[in-house]
Amino acid sequence: MPDLRVLAAEHGFSVVTARSALPSLSSGAGPTIAFAEDLDAESSLPYLADREPGAQSLADFVAAGIRVLNNPQGFFFMIEGGKIDWASHDNDSLRMLGEMKDFDAAIRVALGFLQAHWNETLVVVTADHETGGLSVQDQPFAGRLDWSKTGHSAAKVPVYAQGVGQELFLGIYENTGIFARLKALLDASLAEDP
Ligand SMILES: [Zn+2]
Repeated sequence: MPDLRVLAAEHGFSVVTARSALPSLSSGAGPTIAFAEDLDAESSLPYLADREPGAQSLADFVAAGIRVLNNPQGFFFMIEGGKIDWASHDNDSLRMLGEMKDFDAAIRVALGFLQAHWNETLVVVTADHETGGLSVQDQPFAGRLDWSKTGHSAAKVPVYAQGVGQELFLGIYENTGIFARLKALLDASLAEDP
């Protein structure tokens, strides 16, 4: 497998790998791919549960991404807390909860941007599926997590939305409905401000 950092650089991306370079990334950086400085055996951001205190987190990448993407025409930013799924495939409660915490901190950064740009921003938080068939057993072991499988499940997932158009995300719908709703909002905003 070729080194993605080398391939990206060959194709005109600025490739950021040093932790110290991330905070200075700002608007005008152009096409950029930023990697965590310390990668785990799977070449990904290590699980929060396995990180040194103060190590790079998903929230750091969200903050950098917002700085790079923010511009007068607006932007679309997709962020994935992808290792919630990995830990859930392993039925690893400790690491799954750590990843939820990491994802929560990343969402807080996005909500900070929303607060500062309330009349022109929408933040949608959801999942593409549940993994592990997880339930919380309340009695007699308060809060014990029970896994029922190691694959994806068909359980319904929540959709949280805050900001412009938030009311469109109420109700129960197919996951493709997220695309339709986001597209309708983007089309409307582009028609208003071509
Ligand atoms: Zn999965």
